[in-house]
Amino acid sequence: MEEFDLIDRYFLPLCQPIQAGDLGIGDDGAVMTPPEGHQLVVVTDTLVSGVHFPIDTCAYDIAWKALAVNLSDLAAMGAKPGFYSMGLTIPESDPSWLKSFAGGFRALSRRFDLPLIGGDTTRGPLTVTVTAHGWVEKGTALLRSGANAGDWVCVTGPLGDGGLGLMFALDTLSAEQRSWFDQDQVECSLQALNAPIPQLKAGRVIRGFASSAIDISDGLMADLGHILESSSAKRKTALGAEVWLDALPLSAAMQRWIDKHSDWSLPLAAGDDYHLCFTVHPDAWAKLHKEARENGVELHRIGRITEATGKGEAVTVLDTEGGRAVEHQAQTGYRHF
Ligand code: ADP
Ligand code: MG
Repeated sequence: MEEFDLIDRYFLPLCQPIQAGDLGIGDDGAVMTPPEGHQLVVVTDTLVSGVHFPIDTCAYDIAWKALAVNLSDLAAMGAKPGFYSMGLTIPESDPSWLKSFAGGFRALSRRFDLPLIGGDTTRGPLTVTVTAHGWVEKGTALLRSGANAGDWVCVTGPLGDGGLGLMFALDTLSAEQRSWFDQDQVECSLQALNAPIPQLKAGRVIRGFASSAIDISDGLMADLGHILESSSAKRKTALGAEVWLDALPLSAAMQRWIDKHSDWSLPLAAGDDYHLCFTVHPDAWAKLHKEARENGVELHRIGRITEATGKGEAVTVLDTEGGRAVEHQAQTGYRHF
């Protein structure tokens, strides 16, 4: 199939909804009108086959995840989704693969109402780059750098399922470990890995309350570490954090893993969770909590920002609030280099 037929057949239908007077796929560039009083938030993420997803991942899931990880970044900035573009490198143009691939984008972009407005298509090893654009009311974007000592540390949902899903996908569990889980738990974990739901509503709800935010892509310890680095640099004073194990929200599958294995590295450090981690001043908590409940957004208080202790890791893991420190493998999240 020719490049232009391919774009017309599979990608042009994704160029909806688009505002009257704006221009999407088909010309040298897209033309979009910014809503008044807003700032543009731009995020990009690339997924490489065999690096960011197992090589046998289905086309639908690859597309879903490529868009989802970008929307998760928009969520962490407190932005509303606007539109996205997509750079696709494929080894061959296989119609059934492309149909399924476009289906993954269609499902997620319909859910959040954002059009595909352009991109680029080339031949080579399978790689997908999405650039998503969102809008945030001027001066209100959520940043990593606003945390203060005394703030609560919160997350928007269960941690560790993406990491567990990866063990199922790569089949790295022993037969005994595999037998701990029922089919439902296996499927939920694979779903968390392959088709994460970006927390856009949560991002909008916490905007205006949260002092800092990040999405958990590299693992809680690493991503909370990024909040501490940025916030410490801004304050010019070193911050630390404590995280309480018994406060971490866990799915049924992850609870089972912990009960059997007592290995906390999945919820603490595995990554691929795509929930938001944010900090909030205790005085803002009651109002935020009410707002979240009214909007059906999950919030969990899992720790606290502290002054840096000056010893060891910036993040200390305690068994419970005010409890004793727990040794954990000092994993710092996924590193590419
Ligand atoms: P140009 O030669 O001007 O760079 P292309 O031939 O690359 O244009 O693309 C033609 C049109 O198709 C452009 O509007 C471009 O944005 C769109 N397009 C190309 N690849 C993709 C893709 N993977 N997803 C969405 N739109 C695409
Ligand atoms: Mg051109």
